[in-house]
This record gives sequence, C-alpha cells and structure tokens, in this order.
Amino acid sequence: MPAHRSNRLLNSIFVAAALLGGPALALAGPTAATAPATSPASLPSTAAFDALFKRMDIGDLMALSTAEQLKVVKQLEQLLPPGDTHRARMLDTQRCGLDFINANQKGYEFADAHLAAALAAHDDAAAIRFYYCRGGYLESLKTPNDALADFERGIELARSSGDDAMLAAGMEARGGMYSVLGIYGKALADLLEAQHIFSAQELDEAASQTLQDIGITYRRLEYPDKAREYLNQAIDHEKRVGDTVSLYISTIQLGYSDQEAGHYDAALATQKHALELATTTGDRASVASANLALASVLTDLHRYAEAESALQNAADGFALVGDRADAGMLAYERGRALAGLKEPRKALAEFATAEKAFNASGNRRYQQILYRAQAQTLEALDQPVAALTAYKNFVAAHDAVAKERANQQAQMLREQFDTDRAKMENLRLKSEQVAKDRQVEALQGVRRWQQVAMGLLAILLGLLSLLAIRQLARLRNWKRMASVDALTGVANLRGVQNFANATMRRARAQNEPLAVLTIDIDEFKSVNDAHGHPTGDRVLREVARICADALRDGDLLGRIGGEEFLAVLPRTLIDHAVDVAERLRRRVETLEFPGLPGSLRVSISIGVAEALPHERDIGALIERADAALYRAKTLGRNRVVSADS
Ligand code: GH3
Ligand code: MG
Ligand code: MG
Repeated sequence: MPAHRSNRLLNSIFVAAALLGGPALALAGPTAATAPATSPASLPSTAAFDALFKRMDIGDLMALSTAEQLKVVKQLEQLLPPGDTHRARMLDTQRCGLDFINANQKGYEFADAHLAAALAAHDDAAAIRFYYCRGGYLESLKTPNDALADFERGIELARSSGDDAMLAAGMEARGGMYSVLGIYGKALADLLEAQHIFSAQELDEAASQTLQDIGITYRRLEYPDKAREYLNQAIDHEKRVGDTVSLYISTIQLGYSDQEAGHYDAALATQKHALELATTTGDRASVASANLALASVLTDLHRYAEAESALQNAADGFALVGDRADAGMLAYERGRALAGLKEPRKALAEFATAEKAFNASGNRRYQQILYRAQAQTLEALDQPVAALTAYKNFVAAHDAVAKERANQQAQMLREQFDTDRAKMENLRLKSEQVAKDRQVEALQGVRRWQQVAMGLLAILLGLLSLLAIRQLARLRNWKRMASVDALTGVANLRGVQNFANATMRRARAQNEPLAVLTIDIDEFKSVNDAHGHPTGDRVLREVARICADALRDGDLLGRIGGEEFLAVLPRTLIDHAVDVAERLRRRVETLEFPGLPGSLRVSISIGVAEALPHERDIGALIERADAALYRAKTLGRNRVVSADS
C-alpha cells in the first residue's frame, strides 16, 4: 500500500497544493457553506482579518481547494491593515503552505527564513505555524523522522502560549507522522487528543478531518472495523462540505480496509470510486495512487491483465510527477500480477526491486507481505532452498510485526485510557459551561420577552427607553436582578427581606435601634381606573424613586406588594423614623407628573414601628408597622401613624 500522507496539515500543504492549475478547479470550488463571506473589495480591518484568518487557519475554509484558498489569501491581503507586522506575518504563515507547490526546497527556505524572523520578534503565534510549515517541507524533502523535531517545537510553543487550537493542529500533524512511521499507539493518542480538543473548541472542520487520520491509524493497527467506522464518519463530513481531496483519501483508505478484511468485491467498488474522485481532483499523484490500489484488488480477484494495465497507468503517473516514494509498492504489485500471469521470473525481478525499497524504509509490514509472495513464487519455480529462505524471512518479519502490533495495541489501550480521562475532564468543563450558558439564556429569554412587551407599550405610549435600558442593566448583573424589582428599580420583596433580616441580626448583635416604614399608595385603584394601568405604573415608579431618594444612604426601600413598599432604617429611633416618613409623605403629595393631566395627584399612607429591645422577629416588627398603616388608612389616608401612638 502506498504510504499516504495522513495528516491534514500536510494534506493542505502538499496534497491540496498539487491541485493548483489542475483541470479540477472548477469542480473543486467552494460549496455555499464554505464560501468566504467577505467580499473581494474589503477595506483593511483587524477584526475582519482575524475572523477570516481563523476560518482559513483552522476553520471551515480548510475544506476549500487550493485555488479557493489562494483567493482567501488575496482577501486577507486586502483586509491587512498597513504596518501591522504581526498580521502580515500571520498571512505569510498561510502563504508558506500554499505558495510553493511542487517546490519543496523553496518552501523549506521560505519557512526557515520566516521562522527565524518570527522567533526574533517573539511572535509565538507565527512561529508555531512556521515550525509546522517547515516540518511539512522537511518531511517531503527528507523523512518523517526529520520533520518530527519541528512539530515537537511547534507543539511546545503552542502549549506554553496556551494556544489549544494550534496545540491540537500540531498533535494532529505529529500523530499523522507517528502513524506513517508505524508508531501507532502514540499516533492514536495524539490524534484522539487533537480530535477532542478540536471538538471541545467547536472547530468542527478540523475535528472532522482528524477523523480520517484516526481511521487510517486504526487500519494500520489492524482494527479494520474501527477504521471503517472513523473513515465513514470522515467521508460523511467530506461529502457534506465538498472536500474532494480529503474525500479521495478517506475513500482509498476505506478501500484498503475492505481489502484487508477480505471483502474484495466491496474493495474493488470502493477503489474504483477512489479513482473517479482522484480524477476529479486532477492530482496526478492521487490518480496514480488510486490506480495502484485498484491493481492490488484486481490481483486479489485474479484479474491480472486488468491489474497490469492499472499498474501501467500508476507507473506513468508517478513518473510524470517524479514520485519515487511508491516505487517499492509498485514493484511488489507488478510482481504479484506477473506471478498471477505465470511469469514467475519477471515477478521475482520486481520483488527484488521491492525488497530494496522496503529494506531502505524498514517497513516490516511491507517486508512481511513481500517475503510471502517471494516464497510462493520461488516455490512455483521449484527452488525449494530459496523458497525456504524467503519463508524464514517471512516468519521473522511476521513475528516482528505481530510483536510490534501487540506492543502498539497495548500502548494504545494505555493512551486511550489517558485520553478517556481527558475526555471526562472536557465533558465536565463543558457541562459547567452549559449550566452557565443556560443561566444567561434564561435571562436573555426573560429579556427578549420583556422587550416584546415593552415594544408594544412603546408603540402606545413611547415609554420604552427607560425600561429597555433598565432591562439591559439587569441582564448585565443577574445577581442584582434576583433582588431588584423590575418595574421600579428598587429592591424587590426578597431583596428587602434579606436586608431587613440582616439588619435585624446586626441590630440585636450590636444593640442598635432599627425602624421600619410600611408605605401604601392611597386610592391607587382609582389612579389606574382614571388614567389607565401604564400611567399607574409610571406613578409607581415615580413614587418609588422619590421615596428612595428621600432616604439616607444606609436605608433601603423595597417593593413588597403592588403599590406597597417597605423602608428599613438601620440605627434609627422611632421619632426620627416618623420624621423621615413625614418627609416622604410630603414629597409624594407634591409630586407632579409632567405630560399627564394636572389633576393627577397621589398620596401615601405610612405606618412606622421600631424594634422592641429584645425583638428578634422582623416579621413581628413589620406587622406592627402594618397595623399602624391600617390605622393611617382608616384615619383618612395621606398621613403617618406610629406604632407607638
Ligand atoms: P387604599 O388607599 O385603600 O390603599 O386604596 P387602593 O386602591 O390603593 O387599595 P388596593 O390595595 O385595594 O388597590 C391596590 C391597587 O393597586 C390594585 C391594583 O390594581 C393596583 N396595582 C397593584 N400592582 C400594580 C402595578 O404593578 N401597576 C399598576 N398600575 N397598578 C397596580
Ligand atoms: Mg394596598
Ligand atoms: Mg393602596
């Protein structure tokens, strides 16, 4: 099987990059869901730049074809505020992956120079991305092992700067490389964690793309069912967003899974489809890889002649793009087809070529399948000694692979356990956040509802603004809201009760006096009846405001009923409380209501009581004030009556 670059970061840098100028650009255009929202003629704006950059960097625009991504880079150029060196550098991080198609050495040099500049400027965000970019080119120029160090440094920097999204991007890339290197346990740990971080951050595109890497790694770890589960999820997403390049990769990998499970007919259909997709992308290397995969299944189905012609297509394609990475696998598949066509000598020559390539890469899995094919062919040629040697090689490679697989699977189980713990922690944090969000949502719901009601009132009376502002203030401070009366802005029943209880406790503890006033608007029903309910509300607010203003700083006024209020006056003796009550009464009596009929006048009645020396029950105190209020009403209203009198 060809060693496909499995991680998305590298995909976006290389695989997709190879699309530029290909015939598929029109087909690989953006879907409505992924098209950038910004118009081409945008003015410089940091906010718009950042928003678009994020979508491109690790967001939904990652699914675009290279040509479309280059258009986004153009838009970013227009949005870039002049003289903003950090954002200019961030823009270069995108160019790093897109501007050096099939020019790995130049890309490496670009990344290297820009990385040095970013590090010198202590621009961590840019440096992280240049590390990843340089690592990507290094992998192509040398080996995954050479690239690993750059990804490690980028990951460290992302971790120390608290950039979770870039941390996950680095882990995804590193996991992909571990996977290529056959270190599957570590690969899966990286990939699963990256996937969790992406999901937790709601970076859906990145999360979905990681599914593909996970699927591929499970396949290599020989968990074909798990592989198919993840690959099918990836395929669903890729179809949805129209990401043909990724769809091709997931499909060919699904085909390998089918083939490895012995479902050759299903594998044939899948790989035919992969070939169609590769042709759609216009990427010659992908078409060649798909032909190679198809040939492998055709050989399994004993359709050797068709396999040969597919292999010829593959060889032509690889030669055209100068790809030598698949030479070993190509020779191996050719050998298998030739053996099937009863050309064992030619087959052995191909196997010898494959052996050299597989030994150079040290891939034990490939060596294993090769030795078996060699042994079978030698046997058919009646060369028992050579066949035995090949079988011995096969057994050794098989044992090594089995042992390594057991190790990897054990390691994976360990790592998976850790990842599951991380998952639990993420879930916990998420549920806490959900609870907080619900609280705010509930408040917003109340606010929305009130705005509708108030909007209607405004149409009738133009009284909206004061309340709307108050509602906004309420939303901002939900704690305060729980104890504030929405209509009047003074304390509500609960607020004033809490205050009264606390004041009573303190009064007892410190042996201080405490007085309360119960206040009731006189004949309020007739205000409503004569002027309407909204006017009644306005009167309520005015009365509450005037009373609250007339109290001292340490006092508290609360609305305890429709048009009933309670004032709590700490450290106040009854005589002084009666004076305060009298002041309130006079102010309300002279209150005028601009814009309303001049005849509108209101008055209040007030009952005053002081806590008895050993009284602990605030309720009893309020009851005595209420009794005094009742007397004020029966005595003719608009007056203050003391519980003492
Ligand atoms: P009294 O002098 O005996 O207190 O007469 P009153 O009319 O004030 O007496 P009562 O307690 O029977 O009536 C209170 C009225 O207050 C009844 C109700 O319609 C009105 N009311 C209660 N809450 C509100 C409110 O939030 N807004 C308005 N506009 N009116 C209210
Ligand atoms: Mg009343
Ligand atoms: Mg009343």
